[in-house]
Order: sequence, then C-alpha cells, then structure tokens
Amino acid sequence: MARLTQADLSDLNESFEERTPLELIHWAQEMFGTRLAALSSMQRAGCVVAHMLSEIKADIPILFVDTGVLFQETLETRDRLVQEYGVNIVTLEPAKTMQEQTEELGVLYLSVEGQEQCCDLRKTQPLIQVAEQYDALIGSLRRADGGQRANVPILAIDPAMNCLRVNILASLSKEEFQNYLEENQVITNPLHRQGYPTIGCNRCTTPVMESEPGRAGRWRHLGPWSQYCGINPTDVAGKHAPSIELPQDLVDRVLGRETDFMI
Ligand code: SF4
Repeated sequence: MARLTQADLSDLNESFEERTPLELIHWAQEMFGTRLAALSSMQRAGCVVAHMLSEIKADIPILFVDTGVLFQETLETRDRLVQEYGVNIVTLEPAKTMQEQTEELGVLYLSVEGQEQCCDLRKTQPLIQVAEQYDALIGSLRRADGGQRANVPILAIDPAMNCLRVNILASLSKEEFQNYLEENQVITNPLHRQGYPTIGCNRCTTPVMESEPGRAGRWRHLGPWSQYCGINPTDVAGKHAPSIELPQDLVDRVLGRETDFMI
C-alpha cells in the first residue's frame, strides 16, 4: 500500500482544470474500473451526474443514502432516475430506524453535538460500511456554491472513506450548470422549485427566502454554525489527516508514474 496526500495531487489537479465532466468520468473509469462509484443525495448536481452517466452509458453504480427521514419527493426523484435514465442506484440505509435511534439516544438533531452524531449514524456510517469496495467516488460538489465549497479541488482525498473523490462538476460556473440542466431537461427534485435550494432530511431542512444564502435552510434550528453534515471531506477541512492508503500500483498510475500508461 502507498500513502496519497492532497499535496501529491496538486499537479494533476492543475492539469485537470480544463477537462470537461465527461472527460473526468472517462479518466476515472479507466483508472479505477469496477472500484469506482458515484455518490448522490438526489439534489440538482447529483441528478446532473446521473444524467451524464446515463448519456455515456457508463456502468457506474450511484450510491444513495436513505436516512429514513428523507422527503417523499427525494425518494421519487431517485425512482425516476432509475426508470427514465436506467442508472444503477444503490440505496444504503442506517443500521437503525429513526424511531429505534430515538428510543435509544433521544432526539439527537435538536442539539449541535447531537446533529453531528445523528448525521454520522444516518449518513456517514452507511457509506463507511461499503467503503472497502471502492477506491474512488464521483462527487458533485461545485465551487460555484460558495461557502466551504468555493475552493473544492477536482481530485480530493477522502480519509473517512479512504478513497479519492472525483468532483467532476467542481469548475462548472453557475451559468454552465444551469444551461446543462435546461438543455438536457434533467430530472430534478421538485422541492427545488418550492423554495428549497438544497435538500437533506425532512427533520433538518426548510425552504429559504430569496434574501437568504442557499444553505440557510439546512439545520436552521441549530443556527449558522451547523450548515454541513460532514459527509464531504471538504466540508470538514482540518478534521481528518488529509491522506489515504491505496495499492502502490494504483497510486503510481493515478500520479502518472508508469511510463507505459497514458493519463
Ligand atoms: S440531517 Fe438531521 S435528521 Fe438527517 S441525519 Fe443529520 S441530524 Fe439526523
């Protein structure tokens, strides 16, 4: 095994800035083969990724965590993507229902510390359970969303999953993203058109007013200090050592160290 850090990826990230999302998908497919999946929470960007995978008929599973307390519209969006795009969405679930968790631990999401534990149990742990199956995950974070995502790299180290995140939409501008949605009439969660710029669990998501930032509706009851759930490594910068362990030959290929391998 070999250690891979965020710093090791800086040259590659620089050279990837001009690549399109589809070129990045092809690169990831070639590099990681069947140890590649995508990650989606069925929000707009995740639906764009699903559309792209469907367009190129990429046989890449899309991991979706059903926390058990999602909006019905979110589940219906997942089902429409499967039916109309033919994508393979793998639904992951927490070990306990929300009722079982509440009976055991109380209503966690009503406090800042409890929210962290709840998000860990209901969002992060289901992913950790399958982490060993993958070396890379295609993500849909965009710099244009601002906040902690304003500087998200295309290739990002994910220490919790011990894998590489390939943020294929990172450098898309707001206009490019909007154009893609409209030109392709991408299926999206109807709640986006009902005042929800971002959508998570029904317990912790509200609509936002036009004058508010897009993420104001996430964990509104906890105040502005809790606008990210921790499922994306770039949202919790500094919380984990930014390195992962992958097979030596894979690290060599990712970094282009093999002379007979074309990136
Ligand atoms: S968003 Fe709220 S309900 Fe969902 S896992 Fe996090 S704390 Fe729990």
